[in-house]
Amino acid sequence: MDDCLFCKIVAKEIPSSVVATSEHFLAFLDINPVQKGHTLIVPREHSTDLLDMRPDIGEEFVRFSQAVATAVVRAVHADGFNLGLNNGRAAGQVIFHTHFHLIPRFSDDGLRTWPSQAASPEELGKLLESIGPVDF
Ligand code: 5GP
Ligand code: ZN
Repeated sequence: MDDCLFCKIVAKEIPSSVVATSEHFLAFLDINPVQKGHTLIVPREHSTDLLDMRPDIGEEFVRFSQAVATAVVRAVHADGFNLGLNNGRAAGQVIFHTHFHLIPRFSDDGLRTWPSQAASPEELGKLLESIGPVDF
């Protein structure tokens, strides 16, 4: 993709702070980190989001993310981490090249988790009905 920022980072046309590389992935530091050590993990091949990404690289993604998370957590002395992905504009996606955020977390970092509220069994049942069988 000619006009994709992360394709340019993968191609080294734009510099980045590379944490690690694997056959199909690149991990580099986010320039605007939520926390020290905030790392982006991106497939080298362009895809716009998770639903567009080649599923056959999923196993490598998990193994690579485990290795990157281990190294980053150790380096910044984190107590845990969030590994997530913003899929679509409504979810906060700004760069439309699939990328996972690895965000180190600290016991006292003051960042909150998502707000939630209890759902009734009826609501959950209706939701399940509307989801239906998952095509897999
Ligand atoms: P999104 O909101 O699309 O899930 O996240 C995009 C992320 O890319 C943001 O956290 C942002 O700080 C990061 N980012 C944007 N431009 C650059 C860049 O040129 N280099 C690096 N390393 N990160 C970037
Ligand atoms: Zn791209």
